[in-house]
Amino acid sequence: MKSVTVVGSGIVGLTSAISLQEAGFRVRMVAKERFDRTLSNKVGAIWFPFEIHPKEKTNHWPTLAYTRYEREIQEGNGVAFIPFITAYTPESNIDWTSQLSDGKVRKARPEELPKGMQMAFISEVPLAEPHLYLPHLFERFITNGGNFEKRELASLKEMAGLDSWVINCTGLGAKTLCNDDDLHPMRGQILRCEKMDIPSFADPTKRGALSYVINRSEDLIIGGTDYENDWNEREDPADTTLILNRLAQSSSSKTPGLLEVIVGLRPRRSAVRFEFDPVFSTVFHNYGHGGAGFTVAWGCAMELADLLVKRQKH
Ligand SMILES: Cc1cc2nc3c(=O)[nH]c(=O)nc-3n(C[C@H](O)[C@H](O)[C@H](O)COP(=O)(O)OP(=O)(O)OC[C@H]3O[C@@H](n4cnc5c(N)ncnc54)[C@H](O)[C@@H]3O)c2cc1C
Repeated sequence: MKSVTVVGSGIVGLTSAISLQEAGFRVRMVAKERFDRTLSNKVGAIWFPFEIHPKEKTNHWPTLAYTRYEREIQEGNGVAFIPFITAYTPESNIDWTSQLSDGKVRKARPEELPKGMQMAFISEVPLAEPHLYLPHLFERFITNGGNFEKRELASLKEMAGLDSWVINCTGLGAKTLCNDDDLHPMRGQILRCEKMDIPSFADPTKRGALSYVINRSEDLIIGGTDYENDWNEREDPADTTLILNRLAQSSSSKTPGLLEVIVGLRPRRSAVRFEFDPVFSTVFHNYGHGGAGFTVAWGCAMELADLLVKRQKH
């Protein structure tokens, strides 16, 4: 059994590690922070192909992930399928709708649209609540024989020395590790609120004015912002006001009870980096999943495992 080291313990690292274990590899994980301190632990997280490229792959990966989530549903692990309204315009990329099977997506009727929305799809989509799903994945990784080392790596060279194969799932951390000029932050601020009677929806049609609501088991996530190249990880009260004002424009509900303001930096790239390193040929890069890490991670992980199984045979 060949061994592989996965660097990173966010959604991309955890799904990669488990897929590799399922394919028969012995896997260890090395990360600067445990899963509960990662960006992945802070977010929604709904299946929604937002701000991720390239198009050919990002049609395929979410579809693979969608079917994987259908098998992931388990009491208490945070995975569920919920109805979700997604706004679109004639200019929107709606390829994702053709990836879902019949009965999983349809056009919304006018009376179903949130206030101010012109056109939308209603679909059944996976929700993976990170504070439940990430510990569940980590425990599975350990039960499958994995082990975890908390350690920060300083360079790609150091990473390459870890094992015969190393999977780089360091998210935005790859910017310095790989001197990657293409990788940059897209700042998102979201509000965790008390539950309310309001449908889950996303309106990504206005650039710089992303608006969404995600109903979770015990709270409600209201978003958000999508600021390119903004490294500010502190809460901005002006953004909180902006998010609440946008919600008021699309819903007649009362102002939600605010529980927490959350800020995260999406690891944004012109395309997800999913390839072997041209210099350190034992390192495979799997980072830059932008605003859709939860939407595509299982898809990438399953393709990665197939790829390494094939390589092993040569
Ligand atoms: C506000 C907001 C809302 C979002 N909502 C959604 C959503 O609803 N649905 C969705 O699909 N996506 C959503 N996203 C995007 C999603 O959160 C990211 O795409 C995803 O979390 C990226 O996961 P990752 O595992 O690549 O990175 P991370 O979770 O950042 O994990 C990176 C790992 O690498 C480790 N690491 C980094 N550098 C080093 C180093 N030098 N040495 C060792 N270890 C290192 C870190 O410690 C960590 O363990 C949202 C993002 C934001 C900001």
